[in-house]
Amino acid sequence: MRSQQDSAGGLRHLITLEGLTRDTLIAILDRAETYRRLPGQPAYEGRELAGVTVANLFFEPSTRTRASFDLAARRLGAHVLNLEQQASSRVKGETMLDTIYTLEAMNTDVFVIRDSEAGMPDFLIDHIAPHVSVISAGEAHVSHPTQGLLDALTIRTHKRRFAGLKVAIVGDIKHSRVARSSAYAIMTLGTSDVRLVAPEALLPSEDEFPGAQRFTRIEDGIAGADVVMMLRIQKERMVQSASLDDAAYFRDFGLNSKRLKLASPSVLVMHPGPMNRGVEISSEVADGPRSVIREQVNNGLAVRMAVLAAIAATLTRHRRPL
Ligand code: ASP
Repeated sequence: MRSQQDSAGGLRHLITLEGLTRDTLIAILDRAETYRRLPGQPAYEGRELAGVTVANLFFEPSTRTRASFDLAARRLGAHVLNLEQQASSRVKGETMLDTIYTLEAMNTDVFVIRDSEAGMPDFLIDHIAPHVSVISAGEAHVSHPTQGLLDALTIRTHKRRFAGLKVAIVGDIKHSRVARSSAYAIMTLGTSDVRLVAPEALLPSEDEFPGAQRFTRIEDGIAGADVVMMLRIQKERMVQSASLDDAAYFRDFGLNSKRLKLASPSVLVMHPGPMNRGVEISSEVADGPRSVIREQVNNGLAVRMAVLAAIAATLTRHRRPL
């Protein structure tokens, strides 16, 4: 994989958080804070992306992430194209490159890609022009960098620190790109007590998540936790989805008010969305006083603006002269 940063350290691409330093993550979070506006406040409107064209290419259905990237780019003054791609995996690489080359010829500068198979963002980075950037909006079960950043921003806003926190990630970790990116972000930022909490079949392989502890009972995993990150059961990534019984999962692993009492009284309850209410989380908890789920959405917009702005600043240094 080509580097995500240029020789001056500027962000060129964002396809994974892995390899980015603590300082780079902090710089993105700091910038995101300057863009964040609470619901009801006037949205930030800037010119950081004036003259920049962003194409959203989504191979997987998405409403919130696509809307978030779309608004983030427009609020910074970009031109935005939204293209839903459909192609069989056999021809996808080729189709994708044709699409990219066509859009490059129309002066597109940034491609935001979501794909259900691993490898597409790397493949594109290897083939695109030097003045073009790629951002992953979710790659298979592998990586979802802007989600990792928005989760980190949400935690930082409330806890003001990462060191010393107990963070439980609960649910379908095996299939979760969110778990991978969020765990990487918070561990890089200083959290060492990260607990992976899942039924045996949904835990990731042993060589993943170095340094994290593993629990197969939710009661043990969330005891004393400062943050509980719930994950969606990803039936679309399971081979035998039919064998998963929603009611049994909720009984054994669902986050309800009773279980939440085991966590710290100041616990933050997070979920990347979309939620399966009554499967991994009860509505009472999802809408309750400890939930920061809607703040995550708000922070997602700010983080995507920050990433786009950082990349646009780098791109201007790589543009061809007139
Ligand atoms: N929206 C998140 C993702 O794209 C989480 C999920 O779908 O469960 O991975």
